[in-house]
Amino acid sequence: MLRPFVPMVFCTSCAQQQDDAQKFCRFCGERLPGPALMQQLRNEAANIQAAKSGQVTQTQQANLATLKAIELARQQGFNGQS
Ligand SMILES: [Zn+2]
Repeated sequence: MLRPFVPMVFCTSCAQQQDDAQKFCRFCGERLPGPALMQQLRNEAANIQAAKSGQVTQTQQANLATLKAIELARQQGFNGQS
C-alpha cells in the first residue's frame, strides 16, 4: 500500500523544515500557512507548471477559468466604484 504523499514546507522565519499539518513552527513559534492555504498554493503552482508545459487538465482549466472570472469581477467592481 502506498503512503500518501506529504509535501514538506519550510518555516518562513527560521527556514526549518516543517510538517505542513502544524499551525506553528516547532523551532521558533512562527505561524505557518496551514493545510488549506498550502493546498491552495499547491493548486496554483500546479496550474502554473501545467500552463508552462502545455499540459492542462480539465480541473486545472476549470480553476483557471474561475480565476479569470474572479479577476474580471474585480475589475468590473473597481470600475463601478470609480
Ligand atoms: Zn521557525
